[in-house]
Amino acid sequence: MTKSSLLILPGDGIGPEVMTEVRKVVTWFEEKKGLEFDINEDLVGGIAYDAYGTPLHDDTMAKAQEVDAVLLGAVGGPKYDTLDFNLKPERGLLRLRKEMDLFANLRPAQCFNALADFSSLKKDVVSGLDIMIVRESTSGVYFGEPRGIFEEGNERVGINTQRYTESEIDRVARSAFELARHRDNKLCSMEKANVMESGVLWREVVQKVHDQDYPDVELSHMYADAGAMQLCRWPKQFDVIVTDNLFGDLLSDAAAMLTGSLGMLPSATLGPVMANGRPKAMYEPVHGSAPDIAGQGKANPIACILSFAMALRYSFDCASEADLLEAAIETVLASGARTPDLMGPDGGNSITTSAMGDAIIMALDK
Ligand code: NAD
Repeated sequence: MTKSSLLILPGDGIGPEVMTEVRKVVTWFEEKKGLEFDINEDLVGGIAYDAYGTPLHDDTMAKAQEVDAVLLGAVGGPKYDTLDFNLKPERGLLRLRKEMDLFANLRPAQCFNALADFSSLKKDVVSGLDIMIVRESTSGVYFGEPRGIFEEGNERVGINTQRYTESEIDRVARSAFELARHRDNKLCSMEKANVMESGVLWREVVQKVHDQDYPDVELSHMYADAGAMQLCRWPKQFDVIVTDNLFGDLLSDAAAMLTGSLGMLPSATLGPVMANGRPKAMYEPVHGSAPDIAGQGKANPIACILSFAMALRYSFDCASEADLLEAAIETVLASGARTPDLMGPDGGNSITTSAMGDAIIMALDK
């Protein structure tokens, strides 16, 4: 079996703590399932600034371009808040995303049955929920020109421009169709073709990609506002959703929070397919560096471990191993093990970051 290369960037705050638990899981898959990883670990964020005076060293950037996948913990912290904008820890993350051209942001909304009571929606609406939102993340209204605040007569006008080229829509649509093929083979594309020309083009291009290359995937189109309503009404009707940068920002946050704590949410961002047939990819938990709990053993490592499960599935062609890992997490949660973020308002006995990692390893052993 060829080795898969993995660059691990633990980062700041709780990043190194949760990554320690991921390393236990990686080692388990190496020792017990024969997976082989060529692992390199490096610095990003505030810790890189402390060492090199930059939040991402050029050598680290070069390594990220070479590997099959990057796994990142989190960056940032109050110590760095007064730094110049270009030296802030978050700039390291943005540089990785930009230079790797990571245009498809994948945000799963997955509800473990044991946590269904945590949702703001009724248990039967979210229990067993497993959907994936693919958000275009390098274009659209956050990047389009002209933009700015201008004088117009005797008042000011704020302008942002929604702009999509056919090739930008085509490539994110292909990522979403590929994902759908790894899952339940269903894709819903969301835009506002009723009122926006960029939405009309979006719908046309997605349909064309489907008809030409993915006729086996069940495709539907929905206006994004109706999609938001359907996500809250009956989210289980969806498998994969693909949408633009702005709508994806809103829809993925809403969908992800249907399912519980920030400490449970993984993500991936995928870029162009490399010569080895794999997409450039970075996997990271949605949460930040949580300075309020850093160093106290309170962080939930599951978001980061689930991010590794996504890497197994989407970068390393190890879908059954990803299923196994997710099942182990479900087993641990069903046993009642909880880090403090998963305790109800009544409190109770919580376990540490490290104990949660160990419990997942024990569940994998069974
Ligand atoms: P945050 O996600 O770090 O924390 C928000 C709240 O959620 C905190 O109360 C925290 O304790 C809790 N929390 C987060 N992750 C948790 C986990 N795994 N287990 C248990 N509780 C968890 O967001 P913030 O407080 O707004 O930002 C803190 C720092 O992180 C800032 O410097 C910010 O810029 C940075 N940040 C980084 C990223 C990233 O690296 N991708 C994302 C968001 C924020």
